[in-house]
Amino acid sequence: MADERAGRIADFIEPLRVEPGSDVRLDRDFDPRYKAGLKKRDGAELLRSGVSLLAEYQERLAAQDTYGVLLCLQAIDAGGKDGTIRHVMSGVNPQGVRVSSFKVPSAEELDHDYLWRYARRLPARGEIAIFNRSHYEEVLVVRVHPDHLVRQKLPHDACGPDVWDRRYREINRWEHYLTDNGFKVVKIFLNLSKEEQRARFLQRIDRPEKNWKFSAADVRERARWEDYQDAFSAMLSATSTKWAPWYVVPADRKWFARICSAAVLAHTLMDIDPQYPDVGDEARRELLVTRRELEAEAPAGAAADPYADSRRSGKRKRG
Ligand code: ATP
Ligand code: MG
Repeated sequence: MADERAGRIADFIEPLRVEPGSDVRLDRDFDPRYKAGLKKRDGAELLRSGVSLLAEYQERLAAQDTYGVLLCLQAIDAGGKDGTIRHVMSGVNPQGVRVSSFKVPSAEELDHDYLWRYARRLPARGEIAIFNRSHYEEVLVVRVHPDHLVRQKLPHDACGPDVWDRRYREINRWEHYLTDNGFKVVKIFLNLSKEEQRARFLQRIDRPEKNWKFSAADVRERARWEDYQDAFSAMLSATSTKWAPWYVVPADRKWFARICSAAVLAHTLMDIDPQYPDVGDEARRELLVTRRELEAEAPAGAAADPYADSRRSGKRKRG
């Protein structure tokens, strides 16, 4: 059953995966409106089952305490990062997840190497960390606006024309190191069309309760649409690896983007297949002794083990 589920999810996300070493051109290779033949009305049920699957696997991940997961989310403005995180993680225990958002770096962050601030927010074992924007901004916004690179105070020979290829290499190696040490890295790019971005910006202007989400800077960035598309394509081509693949999630339909994102994360967790720890024979024997002691403490008229009783009667009712 579990294998069947895992197989179905793997097939579902396969068209979204960026083949390592491939030469991606976003506009040619990925359609922001793709929906795998699904209808919106099927979406709610699919997302619900994805969310409960995530809850189950996250509990096992935490119990095993051996692996951690890093999910990086990248998108153009209004791509739907916040809503995706809210919906996909809605069923998991908040103690096992930490979300970090990365904005323009602070003076302290600029005083360190460019990966420093991301390394500080990595997951612990047993945890899922979500990066809302991530170290990939270092080859996206920083590439589109090179004045950000100037602010990073790099030595002269570290910011030549080869800086982007070098960063891709460094990021790939960093993610390889994390994977080798038990931290799975998976990356989602929410692929929004220019027309859908226009519609969402207008909605943010038209609806007063959404005005706070809109800034003039968003429109300035939109004017650089083609440069961003090029930077995304170059990033996807250079940094989708066997150990840390990119998935390009069609983002024009929010409901579909959420199903895909849940499926990518579920696939990563199923691949780890975390197990509840086995306490071993000795500890199990001790538990049984304690059980007998607790049963002996039952007050007059109370069941010796109310939990076992209710399980037995539940089974009888179902059976
Ligand atoms: P929202 O959905 O709320 O708009 P957001 O992620 O767009 O979320 P903002 O505060 O609007 O958050 O924008 C964060 C800004 O920080 C983005 O414009 C992004 O490009 C910028 N940023 C992130 N990382 C870096 C970086 N390393 N160098 C320069 N700018 C960065
Ligand atoms: Mg923004």
